[in-house]
Amino acid sequence: QNWSTMDFLKKLRLKKENPGTSTGAEWQPYSKKTIDSYTPVDGSLIGTVAVTTEKEYQAVVEKAQAAFLAWRQWPAPRRGEIVRQIGETLRKNKEPLGRLVSYEMGKSLQEGWGEVQEMIDICDFAVGLSRQLYGLTMHSERAGHRMYEQYHPLGVVGIISAFNFPVAVWSWNSMLAWVCGNTCIWKPSEKTPLCAVACQQLIAGVFKENNVPEGVCNLITGGREAGEWLAQDERIALVSATGSTRMGKAVAAAVASRLGRSLLELGGNNAIIISGDADLDIAVLGALFGAVGTAGQRCTTTRRLIIHESVYDKVKKKLKQAYAQLKIGDPLDPANHVGPLIDKAAVQLYLNAIAACKKEGGRFLVEGGQLQGNAYKGGCYVQPCVAEVQSSFKIVQEETFAPILYLLKYKNLEEAIRIQNAVPQGLSSAIMTLNLREAEWFLSSAGSDCGIANVNIGTSGAEIGGAFGGEKQTGGGRESGSDAWKNYMRRQTNTINYSTTLPLAQGIQFTV
Ligand code: NAD
Repeated sequence: QNWSTMDFLKKLRLKKENPGTSTGAEWQPYSKKTIDSYTPVDGSLIGTVAVTTEKEYQAVVEKAQAAFLAWRQWPAPRRGEIVRQIGETLRKNKEPLGRLVSYEMGKSLQEGWGEVQEMIDICDFAVGLSRQLYGLTMHSERAGHRMYEQYHPLGVVGIISAFNFPVAVWSWNSMLAWVCGNTCIWKPSEKTPLCAVACQQLIAGVFKENNVPEGVCNLITGGREAGEWLAQDERIALVSATGSTRMGKAVAAAVASRLGRSLLELGGNNAIIISGDADLDIAVLGALFGAVGTAGQRCTTTRRLIIHESVYDKVKKKLKQAYAQLKIGDPLDPANHVGPLIDKAAVQLYLNAIAACKKEGGRFLVEGGQLQGNAYKGGCYVQPCVAEVQSSFKIVQEETFAPILYLLKYKNLEEAIRIQNAVPQGLSSAIMTLNLREAEWFLSSAGSDCGIANVNIGTSGAEIGGAFGGEKQTGGGRESGSDAWKNYMRRQTNTINYSTTLPLAQGIQFTV
């Protein structure tokens, strides 16, 4: 199938020739270097995107800086109105955009649409937020003085995103950054460039129709190098980076060396504790969806199950039955539960992890392996697998971005929480229990050390209304709901003297 003949790409009206780099509403192809985008669904070429050169990058940053000077003076609710219209555009294009997400990334069609719905939801959230960028007032200790604090826009925000949420993560960042008065430069994953091009082209019309200054919404394409430009550039006020811990360490070091701001959303190694008091049907369903959904390629994917010894064998049996019923194949076919991994390199990492697990003594309850045959064209389909392991295994400490689920046994909750916390990452966690004491302990300061802790819900599938992110090597950043918007603004404390005297600090006396 040729990409230009695919209905959903036609509906998105992507230009067939190199869509190129865009600054704001203008869409102009630049460099001769390109990235070919292959779908993991069947390995075919979908399209080709021009790669941003360093010279073009400089021009984009200058445009974004110039646009900031005007954009920051637009009243926040007017900026919100632009985001509202973006939300409307996304609503109209949910079907084809979701399909492109599914086709380029390899997640199921329902998840592709779900990702676009998340974009729409964050638009709605940001519109409301544009009238609620509240500061605080406080009582001054000096007579005739008023004190308050307010939030101002930061400047140019750089957004580096990962392949597994090729559009939602950008929208979490940019919609909030825009209502806060910033301009954005997006560097999407080189594995999903067409999704980024589609977003940029779809919303360009909104900016144009509303006479938004050119350069509020920018896209640069390319690999690691383009991300490094953003990280090292003093003109980028905030670098929001989503991806592997390896990438986050490099970005954090580069941004810190210039005392810039970074917001990091990195890898997870998420666990569900299944207590002896759990509703096992809910527990197994939550674990299954968490472990195999998106073929184990969510940052919140369930990678470890920590199961009480009293229900261990029961859970094992139920899991084995559930895994036997999984349908693996074309993610655009709603009958399938599990699609492909993103590329062949990811398949190799999955195979390496299985080998490492076996070498350390892991026993496979459900065997893994690469799937071959006509239904698995492209070479990216794997069998979701389950292994019984020890927490001390090196491989169990790592995030393998694939559907490998590790089973661990515990005797008491203290031990379970210790195992749950004994990994370098700290993104999402859950306990399955109907026991109030256990649930509250898990959520207390002596419980889970993760940014997300759930009760009777699995680790994946966060709502946009909450602040999203994790601790330790997950990077500490928070995005999306709650007060995550504060990351995109600078705080200023203001004191106003409306008295007829000037009381100096610390009682110091000066005469003039
Ligand atoms: P990746 O780290 O390979 O790439 C992510 C992005 O960083 C890409 O755009 C890439 O070009 C860029 N990049 C890579 N090295 C860089 C460097 N040194 N400097 C600047 N930019 C650089 O990650 P991936 O394989 O695309 O995504 C999977 C990872 O992302 C997993 O670890 C997953 O857990 C994580 N993730 C985390 C969250 C979260 O919110 N915590 C969300 C989605 C994905």
